[in-house]
Amino acid sequence: MKKVVLLGAPGVGKGTQAAQVAKYLDVNCMASGDLFRDHLSRESELGLQAKSYMSVGELVPDEITIGMVTEWLNMPEQSSGFVLDGFPRTIAQAQALDNVLNNGTGGLDLVIHIVVPVSELIDRLSGRYICTKCQKPYHIVSSPPLIKNQCDDCSAPIYQRDDDRSDAVKKRLAVYEEQTAPLVEYYVGSGLLTKVDGLGQIDEVRTSIQEVLA
Ligand code: AMP
Repeated sequence: MKKVVLLGAPGVGKGTQAAQVAKYLDVNCMASGDLFRDHLSRESELGLQAKSYMSVGELVPDEITIGMVTEWLNMPEQSSGFVLDGFPRTIAQAQALDNVLNNGTGGLDLVIHIVVPVSELIDRLSGRYICTKCQKPYHIVSSPPLIKNQCDDCSAPIYQRDDDRSDAVKKRLAVYEEQTAPLVEYYVGSGLLTKVDGLGQIDEVRTSIQEVLA
């Protein structure tokens, strides 16, 4: 089981879990949001195109997103497997993913749907701070850094993403319901979807996911 998608609303913990699943499976992890943020920080053409959508919590248009992710998927190092975090987010993206895989090394093995109640998501996202250097996540109330505003691991400053501010959080959750939630049915239909409870400690969720992968 080496080609895995993590599906779930913003704030369910996809990023944290995806990195651990990739390590467990010994494959690369691709977070589409991280790819976009990398383009943004380099002020590339693609980053400039994505910026106006990202800052208000809207999805970047499919043709831009699919192009960026297809390029990543077609790299030779991805042929043995991968973990996707934040892609696909629309039916068109899921169909594009199926096409890329069916033209290459075969289809997805598993889609893990991480589920967390909306009230918890709002609390997690609006309190989230991230290291500017290593991307380690913190929660300003429930898991703050040892030294104020400074990453425990690399001492770089931590920051709040523009799209973790209150208005953008509401928008992102609405966009999820409207455009991404239909993927649950899509993947139930193809027999690939398994649901995992995303409440609880990071290690507990990781154990549930590893049981599914075993
Ligand atoms: P994330 O880090 O996954 O929360 O993504 C941050 C933002 O990047 C999203 O709110 C979107 O604006 C954009 N984004 C990331 N992945 C996608 C995707 N698969 N399709 C469209 N937009 C995306």
